[in-house]
Amino acid sequence: MSKVVKCREVGVDCDFEARGETEQEVLQKCAEHAKNDHGMNEIPPELAAKVKSAIHDELRRLEDACGFADIGATVNATGPTPHC
Ligand SMILES: [Zn+2]
Repeated sequence: MSKVVKCREVGVDCDFEARGETEQEVLQKCAEHAKNDHGMNEIPPELAAKVKSAIHDELRRLEDACGFADIGATVNATGPTPHC
């Protein structure tokens, strides 16, 4: 199962989502995106930690419409509160 995190999930008003097979790959893509689209040359450690904790397994397509499903979601408690 792929790992995925969306900019929106770390409090950025942006529809970008990074996905990869590993957390490392997702973080890598986030770093590139932050640099290219948000003009951040480096991700500050506190944001990196936030991103890391927001990374979750990609769920079925259905969840895209309503954030997270209640079944099988691995949402970190410190992340933004998901709602439909
Ligand atoms: Zn973004």
